[in-house]
Amino acid sequence: MKLDVDVLRYLYKDDFRVLTAVELGMRNHEIVPTELIDRIARLKHGGTYKVLKNLLKHKLLHHDSSKYDGFRLTYLGYDFLAIKTMVNKGVFVAVGRQIGVGKESDIFEVAREDGTVLAMKLHRLGRVSFRAVKSKRDYLRHRSSYNWLYLSRLAALKEFAFMKALETHGFPVPNAVEHNRHCVVMSLVQGYPLVQVKQLQNPETVFETIIGLVVRLAERGLIHCDFNEFNIMIDDDEKITMIDFPQMVSVSHRNAQMYFDRDVECIFKFFRKRFNLSFEESLDDMDGSDDGRDGAGKPCFSAIERSAGFLDRELAASGFTRKDEEDIQRFIEGKAESDMNSDGEEVDLVEDLDEAGNIDGNSSDLLEQNEGYESQWIEKPCEARESSGSEKE
Ligand code: ADP
Ligand code: MG
Repeated sequence: MKLDVDVLRYLYKDDFRVLTAVELGMRNHEIVPTELIDRIARLKHGGTYKVLKNLLKHKLLHHDSSKYDGFRLTYLGYDFLAIKTMVNKGVFVAVGRQIGVGKESDIFEVAREDGTVLAMKLHRLGRVSFRAVKSKRDYLRHRSSYNWLYLSRLAALKEFAFMKALETHGFPVPNAVEHNRHCVVMSLVQGYPLVQVKQLQNPETVFETIIGLVVRLAERGLIHCDFNEFNIMIDDDEKITMIDFPQMVSVSHRNAQMYFDRDVECIFKFFRKRFNLSFEESLDDMDGSDDGRDGAGKPCFSAIERSAGFLDRELAASGFTRKDEEDIQRFIEGKAESDMNSDGEEVDLVEDLDEAGNIDGNSSDLLEQNEGYESQWIEKPCEARESSGSEKE
């Protein structure tokens, strides 16, 4: 997906205010009624309507009038809210080229003020699945329903929390820098995904390092669950970095053994095929000794000694709760879709609005967050917006 950050230069305070109003409305509405957006944004002289047109033109919003007149954020709109917040916080000053496209993420280079390049991952959880069900209902029963905004934000929060915790425990992962909404900023890994590597100096050593990581993770109470040649980066010195954590589970998960075995099998299969490793010969583990490996040299889940509490202790501190974990896991395991289809009553006002349509404290904070827009992004005045008159307060 193309991320045309130039558009950011042409967005003003009111644009972000309205964009944020739509975001707030989406806590309870898949399509936010235009009139509600206007009430949340509280721009003078019908300013909201002009701004909505501008945001629509830049594809930051999607207009829907099939049931009533309303708008929803596009991925681009949500991206801009996160990027804007990151820029305001001074996390980075520029967005560069796209370096990765996953099925549920887009990854870009971003630059700090001092020129350091970082990686920004924009989560797109629900990109595939949500589309399939979205036409069935316009309203979502709970504010935290399984919509893509919520899921993508959870995925980012989880990824950030796990990356930080893993780093603390000495695992080779990127340095987790910051997260906001569905966006995670981390250090840029030098090197390439293992899938792109055709030759290795020391395939056995690399293989053992990788399998060692799976075991060490399990000892700490975790299973990666997507541990394969796409999520392992390797540099010219054959140093390994693992990435991509939103699907990790605890070793106490009911399918832990299956996930663990699957991760191990992926690595064995890849090294067998790509580097012709023959495990029966190359490993010293065929002596029948009790080293926690089976006859083919594969580590056994049941033999792993766990040091308890890793997940709970480290992750609780990061704000990633058990409820978050349950929600995201439910989605990942494919139950979200059937939940979405169950009937629920409709909700037509955002919870943060009082009867007069005023926003409560929290939501006002959210609106304020996106103000004070003197950032690198908006360098030049925009003629189109100057004539709109909605700038003047
Ligand atoms: P997905 O969940 O969509 O698979 P990943 O986190 O695996 O997303 O990232 C997709 C691709 O983006 C990776 O295979 C890798 O090429 C690149 N990438 C991700 N994170 C980084 C990073 N920190 N540094 C460099 N490249 C990265
Ligand atoms: Mg990946």
